[in-house]
Amino acid sequence: MLVDSHAHLDFPQFDADRQEVIARAQEAGVEIIINAGAGLEASQGGVALSETYPQVYAAVGVHPHEAKTLNEGVLAELRALAQQPKVVAVGEIGLDYYRDLSPRPVQRQAFQQQLALARELGKPIIIHDREAHKDVMNMLRRWVREGDQPVGVMHCFSGDLAMAREVIEMGFYISIPGPVTFTNDRRLPELVRALPLERLLIETDCPYLTPHPHRGKRNEPAYVRLVAEAMAQIREIPLEKVARITTANARALFGLEAPGAT
Ligand SMILES: [Zn+2]
Repeated sequence: MLVDSHAHLDFPQFDADRQEVIARAQEAGVEIIINAGAGLEASQGGVALSETYPQVYAAVGVHPHEAKTLNEGVLAELRALAQQPKVVAVGEIGLDYYRDLSPRPVQRQAFQQQLALARELGKPIIIHDREAHKDVMNMLRRWVREGDQPVGVMHCFSGDLAMAREVIEMGFYISIPGPVTFTNDRRLPELVRALPLERLLIETDCPYLTPHPHRGKRNEPAYVRLVAEAMAQIREIPLEKVARITTANARALFGLEAPGAT
């Protein structure tokens, strides 16, 4: 079985066929899907999906693009939402200096407030970092230093090997997305080869980042299998091993019990 550690099934791209998409994931062996919250409304949508579909779990948070929407009221709503039993993380939170859809100081403040929320709730974080490595790392270093909850994942990891090693050393996981299947991507295969499998997760970030051979179309959780297959090929190990270890990693991070344990 596989875990898609980052999906956006609440997005309108799935309105027409959400149920079929989730059924296809199940058929592909994707038995757990973590729906990341891109804003308050998206987080509410994700929590609603988690109540409808047994395999869907939710993270709640405000994406850096939406950072300017975060205020005390929204924080209070996120805090309340996080009490739902299938909310397993705070995210996605972080900094995006590529698109700069919210002013950078506002992004940093929203990230900081949600780091504090995660600590208060005792939940892991899902981090979005695009072209903001220096500030993200500084804020994470401080967060780790100030408390004993160094758990989270850097989703769609976009740094280099040295940064990946530091992230792992701090206690975080690194999540590998669909572009690892692209023949022209050298960075992700290098990371997959060099990093311990015990610190890696897999994800789609659907509807975005569609892996080969579906590139150009909408992404969906079933395709996380293509990510796992690419990793197995790169490391020259069986797919089963990639599936088993990345699933155990996701369970450990998000506090999900193994089947049969309940
Ligand atoms: Zn995302």
